[in-house]
Amino acid sequence: MSNVTKVQQIKEFMAQQGFSIKKKFGQNFLIDKNALEKIVTATEPDNNTTVLEIGPGLGVLTNKLADSAGKVISIEIDKTLESHLKELEKKRENINVVFSDALKLDLSELLKKDISEGRKLKVTANLPYYITTPLLFKMLESKVEFESLTLMMQLEVAQRILASPGGKEYGNLTVAVQYYGEASMVTKVPPSCFYPQPKVDSAVINIKPRDKSVKVLDETFFFRLIKQAFSKRRKTLVNNLEPLADLSKCELTQILEELDIDGKRRAETLSIEEFAKVSDELIKYVK
Ligand code: SAM
Repeated sequence: MSNVTKVQQIKEFMAQQGFSIKKKFGQNFLIDKNALEKIVTATEPDNNTTVLEIGPGLGVLTNKLADSAGKVISIEIDKTLESHLKELEKKRENINVVFSDALKLDLSELLKKDISEGRKLKVTANLPYYITTPLLFKMLESKVEFESLTLMMQLEVAQRILASPGGKEYGNLTVAVQYYGEASMVTKVPPSCFYPQPKVDSAVINIKPRDKSVKVLDETFFFRLIKQAFSKRRKTLVNNLEPLADLSKCELTQILEELDIDGKRRAETLSIEEFAKVSDELIKYVK
């Protein structure tokens, strides 16, 4: 049963397999064919594409992706789905399910063969909402060159990713994602498209890496810096950044001044270019 797109079918599946929905894993299964279609269309899979899927769940999206992608590699944490997903794997030779915590897996290692074969790599997922941000950071910071990320997430998080400087939605997530690529809205998805229904609205966004107009010396430090800069939103840049570098507040203020950045500004007012300048300078004084 890999076409579980109706509430009744999910209930039957639960009764047959003794499966119970686990809130702790963010299990909200997609039951809307239209939304599924939009996710697959935005992914643009072809024979030369390997799609990495986080959280296949009942395998509905996995199955649909495998219709046009050369290969789908799915990572699922819930071992009680093993027999169901193994069955799907047997039926479709281009599906490969790995039972693990996606947050802990080494993605370069997992995709080693596909990378060496020069396959196009894309990520597609109806993300478990409780770990959207760490998963997104994991993919952004990984050394794997993904061509695109097509991700369902909470609408509010999607709006933060798509925000412009100055507003309250603009944060470390915005800067990190926009540094990495260009994000666009694919579609909004209401709670009624899932079973069980989440309490919040959702959205699918697509992120495409671009030739970086902003390029920093050390990306790991850059991501660390922006997380730190936004750690206390009401604090000034100097106060938030002080723990990062081996500098007094006074020295830090002077360094920022030389970069034409007032240390009293708040992180939400800085553009990606300004963050990049700060990162390339502060790395010299890192603790
Ligand atoms: N793809 C399915 C769909 O669209 O109906 C299920 C999506 S559901 C929102 C999230 C899925 O991610 C669940 O199957 C859940 O068990 C799985 N999951 C949760 N945490 C995970 C983790 N850390 N690593 C891998 N999978 C995880």
